[in-house]
Amino acid sequence: MSKALQRLLSPKPTAIGVEIGSSAIKIVALKPGSPPQLTHAISIPTPIGSMREGLVVEPQTVATEIRNAMTKHGLNARFAVSTVPNQSAVTRNIMVPKMARKELDEAIRWEAEKYIPYPIDEVTVDYDLLDDPDSIAEDGQMEIVVAAAPTEAIARQVEVLRLAGLEPTVIDLKPFATLRALRGNLLGTHLSRTTMSGGAYTENGEVALVMEIGASSSIIALVRGERVLMARNIAIAADDFTMALQKAFDLDFTAAEDIKIGYATATTPTEDEEDLLNFDLSREQYSPARVFEVIRPVLGDLITEIRRSLEYYRVQAGDVVVDRTYLAGGGAKLRGLAAAIGDALGFRVEVASPWLSVTVDESRFDTGYLQSTAAEFTVPLGLALRGVSSLD
Ligand code: ATP
Ligand code: MG
Repeated sequence: MSKALQRLLSPKPTAIGVEIGSSAIKIVALKPGSPPQLTHAISIPTPIGSMREGLVVEPQTVATEIRNAMTKHGLNARFAVSTVPNQSAVTRNIMVPKMARKELDEAIRWEAEKYIPYPIDEVTVDYDLLDDPDSIAEDGQMEIVVAAAPTEAIARQVEVLRLAGLEPTVIDLKPFATLRALRGNLLGTHLSRTTMSGGAYTENGEVALVMEIGASSSIIALVRGERVLMARNIAIAADDFTMALQKAFDLDFTAAEDIKIGYATATTPTEDEEDLLNFDLSREQYSPARVFEVIRPVLGDLITEIRRSLEYYRVQAGDVVVDRTYLAGGGAKLRGLAAAIGDALGFRVEVASPWLSVTVDESRFDTGYLQSTAAEFTVPLGLALRGVSSLD
């Protein structure tokens, strides 16, 4: 029986996307279609103290939150696609001698061991071929993408989802989820020519740089056509801005978070911004100019990390010209961040609009809410897109 027929007879169950972020738990549900249609976009604060370094340390608390949120929003689902925290995941493109899939299944652990900073018997490794094996000479090398995460980190996610009454179908990595969600941005008007689940990331061999800046972790990825050229974790994330403010003004985390969201800018505040953000005299000590001075070193570190990642790629693979840059993740919403990164690197940088990859019934959604939360819904949307893809 052909694969397509098999799929028709036993359709793959639809799965929702669940990201348990260190700042917020996000759930996205889609109705399959081309493109899929958004049915739910839920975000709830992650219970304080329930996560450490991206890992859930209080599974029951988090599971109850997920369950309650689903009930409250009338979301009925059995299956879920989720992700491991960036802190514990690694993905790399590596070259291996040409061999059959079966041999590679055996060899992959030994190959991966060279690149993965964990004891190999504690990690789960997956891989995919990047080239058509038929196009490679018998004694040639083939490029593969390897993804690895500690088995314990995967088990922790699976445990939380099961406690929430969900059956995990895929545990993905955030760079892949991000890119899937941003296809609508990356391909622009060319999107309709691709399928949502397969196909290219960029058109005409263009290179795009994508950064997902979460609360406690960030990733940077370079993509060209159908290929992820590089995906790396970077050490600076949105919490670092908050912690700098916390320290400078001697505040608790929540108060520092409020100052960041209310007053922080990533570029020297203009007079208008000063006026606009300075409306509350009792908070004069947090003037945008002072806040900017406090977060400036963190911004410098973030830009250094981006430069370092590009350098790392250039050393390995040669020069690369970045055609377009997108920021995603809640951290992308720092006022002026896209402009600041753009100025520093000489790139045109935009905040991503992941909802372009799906259809949204505007009579059912508050479009203002969706627009203002687009950046942080990138990863969970990418997970949900995998959940409605007919591939795998
Ligand atoms: P992680 O993936 O790292 O575990 P997360 O998924 O919970 O974290 P997100 O939901 O993507 O993180 O983003 C939350 C972060 O975005 C917080 O640090 C928050 O302060 C920051 N953020 C949200 N809105 C703004 C804003 N307007 N200005 C600056 N920062 C913002
Ligand atoms: Mg996140």
